[in-house]
Amino acid sequence: MANSKYEYVKAFERCQPDILLPNTWIVIRLDGRGFHKLTAKYEFDKPNDRRALDLMNAAAVGVMTELPDLVLAYGISDEYSFVFHKDCMLFERRAAKLITTIATTFTSYYIHLWGQYFAGTALTPPMPSFDGRAVMYPSVQNLRDYMSWRQVDCHINNLYNTTFWALIQQGGMDGTAAEKRLMGSVAADKHEILFKEFSINYNNEPEMFKKGTVLFRDYELEDPAAKPAADPELDASSQTQLPARGTPAPKGSGTLDALSGTNAPLSKTQAEKERKKRQKAKVAVEHVDVIRDEFWERRPWILS
Ligand code: ATP
Ligand code: ATP
Ligand code: MG
Ligand code: MG
Ligand code: MG
Ligand code: MG
Repeated sequence: MANSKYEYVKAFERCQPDILLPNTWIVIRLDGRGFHKLTAKYEFDKPNDRRALDLMNAAAVGVMTELPDLVLAYGISDEYSFVFHKDCMLFERRAAKLITTIATTFTSYYIHLWGQYFAGTALTPPMPSFDGRAVMYPSVQNLRDYMSWRQVDCHINNLYNTTFWALIQQGGMDGTAAEKRLMGSVAADKHEILFKEFSINYNNEPEMFKKGTVLFRDYELEDPAAKPAADPELDASSQTQLPARGTPAPKGSGTLDALSGTNAPLSKTQAEKERKKRQKAKVAVEHVDVIRDEFWERRPWILS
């Protein structure tokens, strides 16, 4: 089609600073808009409505399934963080496209699946929506510290909220009194209030409430001792070379962080094969510690 005299405006789009730096981990964090009000409107259980958390997790699984470039996701409360591999070239790493695709896909699933988790409660306007932002992290350590930051936040908020709502629901206090009671208290004080006054052992609270939810692609963990030595499909490189995301990385761009393996660029066919493998892998939904090394050491493919 011939260019119209208006076509020149398209060039403006390319002048906006929108491309995320190459070779950085991309985290897209979504957060529910006005969920304080929404939880009141739909009478969420306080402090944790299990249906609402299950719905958040189901929507996130939908996003992971539709975007095979995602390697990891972590959710708490009304927020979800999605991680693209540092080699990902989806949408040429344009921030607006990545953020809007994740936010709209998540929101669509949230609304689509609502009825499965809140049977008999119809959604009415204003409809749930989620804002999104993209943050780049240049090293695996930064990315892991990001995950740790969110999980520590989950723990601190949950311990506070569990105690706050016990004071109200079982202790008969109003919000102001409960807030005053907890002012200046440290973690040990809250554990003690829960245990002594309400017979609640915080350690026995559900893992999903205490640790949040981590999603990753569940490749079969291999037992190195049981591995047949001569099987070319199972040699060491297939373990460390799951990384082909989108188009293969350009030659010479394969600098590696401590947790990755070798990162030779893959051919297009190889890249496509790995992409299919990722697409087929089940998305695991777990409530585990992501701060200590163990989670990452047992699943080296996630960040490789
Ligand atoms: P904003 O639009 O600025 O994000 P917000 O009202 O969503 O405003 P947040 O800081 O995101 O504020 O807090 C989310 C609110 O939703 C908190 O009050 C939190 O307790 C509540 N909430 C989220 N998920 C659940 C849940 N599963 N059960 C009960 N309450 C929840
Ligand atoms: P991308 O993900 O790159 O946007 P796309 O397949 O969505 O890929 P577009 O350039 O956005 O490509 O084109 C949208 C396509 O959807 C066109 O083929 C267009 O004809 C079709 N389409 C959109 N709206 C309608 C409609 N109301 N009726 C029929 N076809 C439609
Ligand atoms: Mg917000
Ligand atoms: Mg919110
Ligand atoms: Mg929030
Ligand atoms: Mg289109």
